[in-house]
Amino acid sequence: MTHETRSSRRNFLAASSGLVAAAAMPPALAQTAPFLITSATDVLLPKGKAQRVVICGGGWGGLNAAKQLRQLAPQLEVVVLERNPVFFSCPMSNKWLVGQVDTNFLTFDYLKVSEKYGYRFIQTEILAVERDRKRVVTAAGSLDYDYLILSPGIRYNYEAWFGNDRRAAEATRARFPAAYVPNAEHFRLKQAIEDFKGGEIVMTLPPPPQRCPPSPYERACLLAWHLKTKKIKGHITILDHKDGIRPIGLGFRQAFEELYKDQITYVPNAQVKEVDPFNQRIKTAAGDFKFDHAILMAPHQAGDLAWKAGVIGKNAEGKPTGWSGVDPLFLNLRDDRDVYVIGDAVGIVSPQFLFYPKAGHVANRHAKIVARYIAERAAGREPAYSLPDNLCYMWVSADPQQAINVQFDYKIGDFQDKGKVILQTQIDDNERRPELIVEDFRWFGYMREDLFG
Ligand SMILES: Cc1cc2nc3c(=O)[nH]c(=O)nc-3n(C[C@H](O)[C@H](O)[C@H](O)COP(=O)(O)OP(=O)(O)OC[C@H]3O[C@@H](n4cnc5c(N)ncnc54)[C@H](O)[C@@H]3O)c2cc1C
Repeated sequence: MTHETRSSRRNFLAASSGLVAAAAMPPALAQTAPFLITSATDVLLPKGKAQRVVICGGGWGGLNAAKQLRQLAPQLEVVVLERNPVFFSCPMSNKWLVGQVDTNFLTFDYLKVSEKYGYRFIQTEILAVERDRKRVVTAAGSLDYDYLILSPGIRYNYEAWFGNDRRAAEATRARFPAAYVPNAEHFRLKQAIEDFKGGEIVMTLPPPPQRCPPSPYERACLLAWHLKTKKIKGHITILDHKDGIRPIGLGFRQAFEELYKDQITYVPNAQVKEVDPFNQRIKTAAGDFKFDHAILMAPHQAGDLAWKAGVIGKNAEGKPTGWSGVDPLFLNLRDDRDVYVIGDAVGIVSPQFLFYPKAGHVANRHAKIVARYIAERAAGREPAYSLPDNLCYMWVSADPQQAINVQFDYKIGDFQDKGKVILQTQIDDNERRPELIVEDFRWFGYMREDLFG
């Protein structure tokens, strides 16, 4: 089919069916009624008069930013591009792995919420971001933007373990998935836990920064609780890259020693040297281990999309840092004020603590902050900066229900000879107790309300 006939067909389809739908749409959407598009070179959405914000990634950051923008600046057109058909929440997924919440608790419908708040949701793979042309190229066509928000989450750096050996990387992901990127890996891991009849489980923890730093320890506790209560003769060895448990180290250590002495061994300074997913062996700086099952977490980096968009920062030697270089206060690229990065992909923001915790709570706050920045700018005002906070509940036992908790706050202050920078305060609440489980469900309810309410 030639481009011309494809365009005519599109116009016909738009004329015959799209306009009916457009009559019922909010004004911002009506001017860009949907077309059937099959090629990355076609225009996915023609640009109308309204300024357009394109949001790449419909996860914790991106989806929240879309809703916020529609509420703060209804005159803007907002488009979310996301590869997954359904939202699957990583927060609460450790509880789901051991049957404490069901799948419906973690999964949500993108279409219903986009219609409710009047932004456009397009399920497609983002292939490139042409910042010089202010254009995003997707598998379904390309679209121009005035403002761009990137919230691509993370990817695994299997190359650090396997170089170019894709076979080993794919075998690792398929057989011993980390389940830190939603969602196929989560279902694979849940099945493996259900099928596990006993033996040695090894968990590798990536070097910092990583997505949700306390969650691997929570996962180990809940897995140990599962083994203990089901009377499965299994044992978990945690191979931590770091020299100790962080954050909420005391709370987790007490849980390992007091609740799971027979189920968990914690090994610090276990930097991974070699992984063999075929013979189920791993070599680390703290010794060599053989396993019956494993949760193998390769190092984390900003998601592919950040690399495709050319927003990865460089270190002093000019090498990629693996994370997006942004202005710490305004979260835009230093050389491109119309492009914002939020959530886990954000790089170093402070000489004191380096990275914000890579948490859904922080992604939620970034989304609100950046939506306000864009709304202010679109109204011709210069925004004042604001800073996020972070709050995280971690379960150490499912029955009796007990959790611990960590809280982070941020402010501007002096640090050594660096002048005014963002400073972090961290409060670990190490005393495990049932009230924190109630608070966790309440927290998740607020977050879900922000995304889908
Ligand atoms: C086990 C576990 C437990 C956790 N527990 C907590 C917790 O208790 N509290 C907490 O605050 N945080 C928790 N987190 C962390 C939280 O999940 C992340 O910090 C949060 O999801 C980050 O949001 P984000 O928007 O940066 O990335 P994501 O939510 O991952 O969103 C990125 C989106 O971009 C899409 N995408 C990427 N590339 C493309 C592309 N090329 N084309 C189309 N779409 C693309 C992805 O499909 C994805 O939907 C947990 C994480 C895990 C794994």
